[in-house]
Amino acid sequence: MSSVDVFISKEQIANRVKEIGALISKDYAGKEVTVIPLLTGAFMFAADLLREIKVPVDIQFMATSSYEGTQSTGEVKINYDLKRSVHGKHVLLVEDIVDTGTTLKTVMEIMKTRKPASIKLASLLYKPARNIHPVDIDYLGFEIEDKFVIGYGLDFDGRYRELPYIGVYQA
Ligand code: 5GP
Repeated sequence: MSSVDVFISKEQIANRVKEIGALISKDYAGKEVTVIPLLTGAFMFAADLLREIKVPVDIQFMATSSYEGTQSTGEVKINYDLKRSVHGKHVLLVEDIVDTGTTLKTVMEIMKTRKPASIKLASLLYKPARNIHPVDIDYLGFEIEDKFVIGYGLDFDGRYRELPYIGVYQA
């Protein structure tokens, strides 16, 4: 029987999201920020983080995929793209987890061609053990060991995204 062990609790996440929101609000004081959650995994983190950001925000979405089951396919697909130009805007990408870094490397390259005024990255999780493409994470929730995690937006084949905590899936 499969089971889910709590790895990062609801309270731990809420506290860290508050801290990151305060940092972002301070860093972007006097500016407007274009927040781009990378769907699907970042939807819950982004929804909570946005409520802690106290500067004006413009929200746009981008959807990428690279995983099937628990394995990265290594190929990043843009399944849904921005609907408005980010030229001259301060872009804040919001990601659920940086694993190999392949997704972010691709998204960063695409974003740079669109000439925003600045690009920063907020990621809830970072798994250094599996990193191949180094990515600068400006706002990081938690650095974690090499475990396949689910919950709080993260899935296992489309399931478990609704969990209010981050768990480790035990097959
Ligand atoms: P990367 O391109 O950095 O290897 O992987 C990024 C994407 O892979 C994340 O946005 C996420 O969707 C997925 N991913 C990586 N590690 C995990 C994990 O431990 N659990 C889940 N559910 N997805 C992961």
